Amino acid sequence: MGAVEKSGETWQGEGVAASSPLIPFPLLSMSPSPPILRFAPSPTGLLHIGNLRTALLNWLFARREGGEMILRLDDTDASRCEERFVAGIREDLAWVGVTTGREVRQSERMELYNAAFERLRKEGRVYPCYETAEELKRKQRMLRERGGGVAPIYDRAALRLSEGERTALEAEGRKPHWRFRLEREVVEWEDMICGAQRISTASLSDPVVRREDGMYLYTLPSVVDDMEMGVSHVIRGADHITNTAVQLSLFAALGGKTPPRFGHHSLLLAEDGEKLSKRLEGLSLASLRGDGFEPLAMTCLLARLGSCENPRLADSMDALAGEFSLDIFSRAAARFDVGSLESLNARLLHEMEWEQARPRLEALGVGGGAAFWHAVRRNLTRFAQAREWWLRVSEPMEPVIDSAEDAAMLGRARECLPPPPWSGESYRQWVRAAGEATGRRGRTLFMPLRLALTGEKQGPALEALLPLMGYERVAARLGGERA
Ligand code: GLU
Repeated sequence: MGAVEKSGETWQGEGVAASSPLIPFPLLSMSPSPPILRFAPSPTGLLHIGNLRTALLNWLFARREGGEMILRLDDTDASRCEERFVAGIREDLAWVGVTTGREVRQSERMELYNAAFERLRKEGRVYPCYETAEELKRKQRMLRERGGGVAPIYDRAALRLSEGERTALEAEGRKPHWRFRLEREVVEWEDMICGAQRISTASLSDPVVRREDGMYLYTLPSVVDDMEMGVSHVIRGADHITNTAVQLSLFAALGGKTPPRFGHHSLLLAEDGEKLSKRLEGLSLASLRGDGFEPLAMTCLLARLGSCENPRLADSMDALAGEFSLDIFSRAAARFDVGSLESLNARLLHEMEWEQARPRLEALGVGGGAAFWHAVRRNLTRFAQAREWWLRVSEPMEPVIDSAEDAAMLGRARECLPPPPWSGESYRQWVRAAGEATGRRGRTLFMPLRLALTGEKQGPALEALLPLMGYERVAARLGGERA
């Protein structure tokens, strides 16, 4: 917090001032009207699994309580935001079923921010500062040395400028950036995840709220929007905890009565403990979608990461919402490992009902009806693999035959094929007869059969696949013909 954007440096903590007055915000119980939440990404990049987790926790909370989740695009920084990322965010959220009722864009709400800024300016709660990034850096270095290495907070030098000094600085061509003057107070709130919080704003730099080019940094617009949209609950990452203290002060300075309740979830790390920000490529939703993961597997996993409960499959997003509670989440960092997603994804496919699979199979041009789906679903780790199996069943294929002995064995097995039409017992009769005729049993019998018929060493039960392939194709492949 208190980051001065242009210098890239952060001014921070001096410790809690013991004599600070308290702002005890009311510890609200659940508000009686339906809650309003928001997911507030900046469209400066692709959504990744960490963003999705934040969106999802807000959505699940809103859904469980019959409330609403607004999509708020934090797009005030025109130089960093891109329309393709806005489109990507919408597409990704729709793909995972995180539906948003309303969408607002901060770039279209400047009048609201200007009005709030004016109010703060009139009341002396924001003040103009003229230091350049270089000067701030130098000052910070000096203060740090003097303070024995403790990261200093902004010294409020600009607050002591006289009218004449300001005019002189502006005559030099300097444009001010604006800081919010924090009261020396202790801000308290009961965090929905982290419990009782107490932060002294005396330990924080007055945050820059408006840059010299007139653009607002995230802090002020966020509070204005939360107030204007009646946001009742904010669930976001623990990296925002200090922001919350500042934002609660701003909320009070802007005359807010009942601030939102806040919940700060732990950060999500990659499986090796690295920050997700270093892995964004592979962990973007777009890339996970490209990898063929089921959105529900992702949301079922994310709804439990960082909690005391193991991920489990729910039938739908609504079912997931029905069993959602923030109480299970802990403050310890959570890890996202692709292996867990892989296994949840596979389980979801193994249990997927035919009616659910049907339209997707049709879209992939997969036939064979429920019988085919039930034959293959337990062998899938990705839905699209169903098509590969269908091609093995329905399209000509070169049989795989490892040796002349196997070829001879397969020839004899072919002679044992019962004539069509095949019944439920046909397969068993056939392998029994083939075993007797060839003298082979177990793996030495079944592996060559499987290879010749499917081209693979592993796969769905032959018993289920054979009727779908039909007598002609089975017989031809056993005879070593492409069929
Ligand atoms: N745009 C901010 C972020 O992505 C929003 C934080 C918030 O939820 O208030 O970090």
